[in-house]
Amino acid sequence: MQVSERRIVVLGCGGTIAGRAASASDNLGYRAGELGVEELIAHVPVPEGSTLAAEQVANIDSKDLGLAQWCALSQRCAHWLAQTEVAGIVITHGTDTLEETAFFLHAVLAPVKPVVLTGAMRPATSAAADGPQNIADALSVAASPLAQGVCVVLAGTVHGAIEVQKVHSYRADAFGSGDAGPLAYVEEGRLRVLRAWPQGPALRSAGSLPDPDAWPRVEIVMSHAGAGSALVRALVKDGVAGIVVAATGNGTVHEALEGALLAAQEQGVAVRRASRCAQGRVLPQPGDRLPGADGLSPVKARIALMLELMQ
Ligand code: ASP
Repeated sequence: MQVSERRIVVLGCGGTIAGRAASASDNLGYRAGELGVEELIAHVPVPEGSTLAAEQVANIDSKDLGLAQWCALSQRCAHWLAQTEVAGIVITHGTDTLEETAFFLHAVLAPVKPVVLTGAMRPATSAAADGPQNIADALSVAASPLAQGVCVVLAGTVHGAIEVQKVHSYRADAFGSGDAGPLAYVEEGRLRVLRAWPQGPALRSAGSLPDPDAWPRVEIVMSHAGAGSALVRALVKDGVAGIVVAATGNGTVHEALEGALLAAQEQGVAVRRASRCAQGRVLPQPGDRLPGADGLSPVKARIALMLELMQ
């Protein structure tokens, strides 16, 4: 019986995985986003029964990503996901804001097919480059009938878009899923699934996003010992549409900052409380004066609030 071929589309966005240093022993002094996506996949094993197509969407350090790149990437994903022969998408991306892009794509695409983001902690020129294995693992996930939705694959571990966070600044195994735990492991090209892939409707469709300069502006402020009201007052004066507070513990906010946030809310600014803790979530309580962020981290709560305020 002839098995029809699956196509996997690899979209390049840059990052350390596409980074180049002057020496193979230099894992730090490199420039991110130098190699093209075709070069990244040239020697990576392709899952049996699959063919690859590659497209460069951006080639930058992900710390510099903006709304324009997110809009372009979501539109390219939507285009490819609509092709029947496409089984899944792999996105090569910098690790610094990988969790934000993953959550954004989850929020605007909510795809049934797998959209798998991967990156690397060492540049492509490193003697111990981790990128090729991460791409091979991401391709295996994208080709697997067990995978669905947006996820992140690094160091043989598959994380869901909602929970994934960069938790280490240097280690190759730099990502975690907090107390939810990973979705799966990739072992020699096979998936060992640990829990159900999260599904749900898109918060807003990729095709209906406004131009980047028309997005509502949402900023993040942090509560900490000695926090004050000045930043929030300045943001309100500057016309911000929403503020996410990275609150301490279970959503507690310094009284001086809380006063300013309540005043901002009174004036029509949307305020959400997320926790600055790496694990756990803000548990709602009766009488909460500032709404929680549905368990999202501050950077993801900001994305969810921007999409909510567009409606
Ligand atoms: N600064 C890099 C980036 O996010 C770091 C990395 O990819 O690991 O593009």
